[in-house]
Amino acid sequence: MDRDAVREIKDRIDIVEFIGETVQLRRAGRSFKGLCPFHSEKTPSFHVSSERQTYHCFGCGRGGDVFSFVMEREGLSFPEVLEMLASRAGVSLEKHQGRPERKGGAFEAMGSALAFFADSLSGPSGEAARKYLDRRGIKAENVKAFELGWAPASWDMLKKHIGSAGINMSDAMASGLLSEGERGTYDRFRGRIIFPIRDVQGRLVAFGGRIIDGEGAKYINSPEGELYSKRKNLYLLNVARQAIREKGRSILVEGYMDAIRLHIAGFPETVASLGTALTAEQATLLKRFADQCMICYDSDTAGHEAAIRGMYVLQQSGLDIRVVVLPAGKDPDDLVGEKDGPKKFAALLRGAEPLPLFHIRVRRNELEDPAKRTAARREIIRGLAEMPALEANRHITQVAQGLGILLPEMLDLLRQAREDIMGGKKGIPAAESVYRDIEDHFGEENAVDPWESALCYLLWIDTKRRSSETIESILHLLSDERAKSIAVSLLAGESPGELRTRWAETGDPFPMRMISSGWAHCEKNGEEGELWDVVVSALGRKRLMERFSVLKERHARGEASPQEMQEYLELARRLKGGIGSP
Ligand SMILES: [Zn+2]
Repeated sequence: MDRDAVREIKDRIDIVEFIGETVQLRRAGRSFKGLCPFHSEKTPSFHVSSERQTYHCFGCGRGGDVFSFVMEREGLSFPEVLEMLASRAGVSLEKHQGRPERKGGAFEAMGSALAFFADSLSGPSGEAARKYLDRRGIKAENVKAFELGWAPASWDMLKKHIGSAGINMSDAMASGLLSEGERGTYDRFRGRIIFPIRDVQGRLVAFGGRIIDGEGAKYINSPEGELYSKRKNLYLLNVARQAIREKGRSILVEGYMDAIRLHIAGFPETVASLGTALTAEQATLLKRFADQCMICYDSDTAGHEAAIRGMYVLQQSGLDIRVVVLPAGKDPDDLVGEKDGPKKFAALLRGAEPLPLFHIRVRRNELEDPAKRTAARREIIRGLAEMPALEANRHITQVAQGLGILLPEMLDLLRQAREDIMGGKKGIPAAESVYRDIEDHFGEENAVDPWESALCYLLWIDTKRRSSETIESILHLLSDERAKSIAVSLLAGESPGELRTRWAETGDPFPMRMISSGWAHCEKNGEEGELWDVVVSALGRKRLMERFSVLKERHARGEASPQEMQEYLELARRLKGGIGSP
């Protein structure tokens, strides 16, 4: 059972020690605190509790246990984290799960293949490949640094090598090194330069192969399988992550060669997408190291629908996307190879365009065609509406200009688009943890009635509720000014995403804390379907109690008017009868 393994791992790994390896933690009372690794901040609001073995950030609301920490930080799935932490803690998953360990063998096969490809590149069969790399400005030291290799043009050399190394054929199949045809298994990569693909942790998970002459696809990759998912990886990220963090940006290119050439030319923050549409998983990976991402695709591909869509996918995940526009017909590889190439490339990076403006440039023809104009405008405004509001606001005037419409009309269209989008999905307050044992961390001094926080939380997650309730109906339930302000913002149509951005900009952790604490309170107090009624009735009763004690006081002093007396008696009856809401 996973549960036993999880418990055993949590017993063996101390969360303070574990998080302390990557986040500088200082003791603060009974817990530890430091700068949050998930959002950027100057004063620490990230707390780790040794007692409860959990963490919580008051700034961005993320929280959970050691598992959710690694999931969030490494962008891994729960089973992957389970495996990783199990091996660190020395906990055997086979014992718990009764299934044999398979990946170990596949990794071994990959390692053996890596050595074979490297040997082949320096051997006699690799001569043409060496010449090719040399022509592309890739020197012997680069070959070594990027672990490049050569798959000879043979159907079974790798297969034989793997066999003689004593590796199980089923492991070689699982790792995608061999393919299966009518006449049995054969080498997948033949007559190709080999680029090893490592995951963000540096484990060898796949190979990419580029043909240098002859027939066939220009590039092929290892198939998706036990080790590799192209949606969740970026080429060279394991090497680039440090530079991305230091420079505060990543550069995203399409091809292996582009990425390598940019590294060599002095842009070590470069990664390459792996022949796939860009994914939210990749955005999460990049965002762990820096918020800004410069996309640098060949000038023709950048115009392709899939590429634009992919850029918006990254943008929606919170990355600040800039598009580097290359001279027509050039790819980054060509460009840095020219005289003063790196300087020219650096200048292009400085002039990179925000995504909406780039989008307008790509759609210029459609925007000039009366028959296609409306659709193109709608598409661009929809993209803008999906961005965080503060980021989008920076571009509104320029986009209006680019679309040839007046600002008021632009704002109208943008609001409509935002409403359409919000109609479709719920806001999610914080990273979802497998074990949502989020804590109620409110200090005494700032305490807000947890029921009021709960009400804010329920409005926060439920678009329908926000549009069906009125400001008046909600305000009389609340007593705290801060809770009122959150509720009013939500009811007036500000989306959770916009609020979160606004709060992040002002650096005020309090509202997000309230939402988190409301979440925690809801978890404790009922099932999803009935929560709203439970919360509203608890608050209604509180407000009645307050009113009742005011009236009681006035009655005792003989100051109550006849109407107040009537109200007092009526309330006494209702409260006694246990009736909650008025
Ligand atoms: Zn945070």
